[in-house]
Amino acid sequence: MNEFARDEISAPVVRRSDVVVVGGGPAGVSAAVAAARRGASVTLVERYSALGGLASGGMVLVLDDMVNGDEITTTGVVAEYIDRLATMGLAVWPPSTDRYSSTEMWNKWARWGAYNFHSHVNPKPICYAVAFDPDGWKRVSNDLVRENGIHLRLHSWFSRPIVRDGVISGVVCETKAGPQAVLGEVVIDTTGDIDVASRAGADFIHDRYLVTLVFRLGGVDTAAAERFEQENPKEARAINRKVKRMLGGAWEMWWLKTPLPGVVWCNCPHLTGYDGADPESLTAAEFDARARIAEVMDYVREVLPGFANAFVVDVAEQMGVRQTRLLAGEYVVTKDDLTTRRHFADTVCRGRDYYTPYRALLPRGVDQLLVAGRHYSATPDAQRMSREIPPCMAMGQAAGVAAALAVSSGSSVRDVPIEDIRRGMREQGADPGDVPSANATVDELSEVAV
Ligand SMILES: Cc1cc2nc3c(=O)[nH]c(=O)nc-3n(C[C@H](O)[C@H](O)[C@H](O)COP(=O)(O)OP(=O)(O)OC[C@H]3O[C@@H](n4cnc5c(N)ncnc54)[C@H](O)[C@@H]3O)c2cc1C
Repeated sequence: MNEFARDEISAPVVRRSDVVVVGGGPAGVSAAVAAARRGASVTLVERYSALGGLASGGMVLVLDDMVNGDEITTTGVVAEYIDRLATMGLAVWPPSTDRYSSTEMWNKWARWGAYNFHSHVNPKPICYAVAFDPDGWKRVSNDLVRENGIHLRLHSWFSRPIVRDGVISGVVCETKAGPQAVLGEVVIDTTGDIDVASRAGADFIHDRYLVTLVFRLGGVDTAAAERFEQENPKEARAINRKVKRMLGGAWEMWWLKTPLPGVVWCNCPHLTGYDGADPESLTAAEFDARARIAEVMDYVREVLPGFANAFVVDVAEQMGVRQTRLLAGEYVVTKDDLTTRRHFADTVCRGRDYYTPYRALLPRGVDQLLVAGRHYSATPDAQRMSREIPPCMAMGQAAGVAAALAVSSGSSVRDVPIEDIRRGMREQGADPGDVPSANATVDELSEVAV
C-alpha cells in the first residue's frame, strides 16, 4: 500500500479494519475475539513477540477473582482459555467437592493459590481459581487469533493515535520497518497503561502501586517443602519471614505450584516506589529485583527443605506492573461501589462479586475509543481490588462486542444500546452482569439513565 496516514509524521497505512485493538494481553485478546465473532474485521497490535501480557510475559499464573460464593461470575473467553489449557494438561484447579474451609483442604490446595484471599475465615476457604502455564497461555491465544481470522501484528509498539476533531481513526506503531499506521472505525485501548487514550486526549489520572518481577524455580521437591511446613509450621514461618524480608515484600505464599512438576512460580519481589510507566524507574526496578532474587536463591537452597536443588528457570520478560495511568472516564468506579457490590443500570460485565458499568470503558474527550483491562476507569484503590485477569478479560469481551455493534450499526460507541451489548455477551457465553446476584446493592441512584 502506498497510502499515508496524514498526521504530523507520515506513516504508511499497512492495514484498515473495522476494529483496531492495541495491546495483546488478556483484555486485548478477549476484545479482539469478541469483536471478530460479531462479524467485525479486527487488527490486533502487540509490542512484544507473543500474546498474553502479564499472563504470559509477566508470568502471573493464577486466574482468580472469578467467584461470588459458589457462583462463577467470570465466564466467556476466560472459560474458553481454561478449557483449552486443561485439554493441554496445563491448568489445575480444585474440584467443587474440595472448595470449603478446612485444614485438610488448605494443605492440599493453598500452594496452588486456590483460596479466597478476601476471606477472614481461618483457614481461608478453598475456591475456584486456576493455576496455568504461561507458554500454554501463548499457544491458546495464538489459536484463538487464528481461528477467528484476526489480523495480528506483533513487534508493533503503539506510539501515537490518529485523532481528528476528537475522533480517533487509527494508531501509528513503531516497528523495525519504521512507523506504520493501522486504521479502524473503532479503537480499543488494552495496553494496561492507557497508552492510546492518554495520548489521544482522554482524561486520566496517574498513580502507582507495587511492581513485581515474577520468577520461576525448577528442581523443587514441592512434596518435601509442603511436608516440612505442615509438620514444622513455626520453623517454616521463620524461614519464610526471612525470605520475604530479603525480597522486600511478598504475599502470604511467596512460592506457588504450577502444572509443571518441580516448577514453582514466585509472585515476588514486591517493590515499592517505582513507576511502571517510566523507563528510568523500570530499569532501576529490574536491577533491584534481580539482585534480590539472586540473594534469596542462595538462602533457600541452603535452608529450605525441598529447595536444595532449586534453580532459576526464568525471570519474567516483563515487569509486573499493576497500576500506572487510569482512565477518568464517563464513570469512575469507586472502592465503595465494589465493597457494596453496586449494580449499575449499564452493567455490561462483572468480576468476583462486583459489576462494571459500560461508562467505565468510555473515555471523556475522545470518540470511537474504548478502554478495557487494568487501566479502566476506577479510583486507584478500587482498581487494586478489581484488576485480576478474569475481570479484565470480561471487560475486554464487553468492549469487543460493543465495538462490533457500533461498526455494524454505523453508530458511535457511546450510543450502542446496553441491552445489545448484554445480549451479545450472552450469545458468546459471557455473563454481562445484567441480573444482579442476591448480595448486590441495586440502589435507586445506580440505576441512572446512561
Ligand atoms: C505481579 C502481579 C501479580 C498478579 N497476580 C494476579 C493473580 O494471581 N491473578 C490474577 O488474576 N491477576 C493477577 N494480577 C493482575 C493481572 O495480571 C493484570 O491486571 C492483568 O493481566 C491485566 O490484563 P490487561 O490485558 O489489562 O493488561 P496486561 O496484562 O498488562 O496486557 C497489556 C498488553 O498490552 C501490550 N502493550 C502495552 N503497551 C503497548 C504499546 N504501547 N503498544 C503495543 N502493545 C502494548 C503489552 O505488551 C501487553 O501484552 C497480577 C498482576 C501483577 C503485576
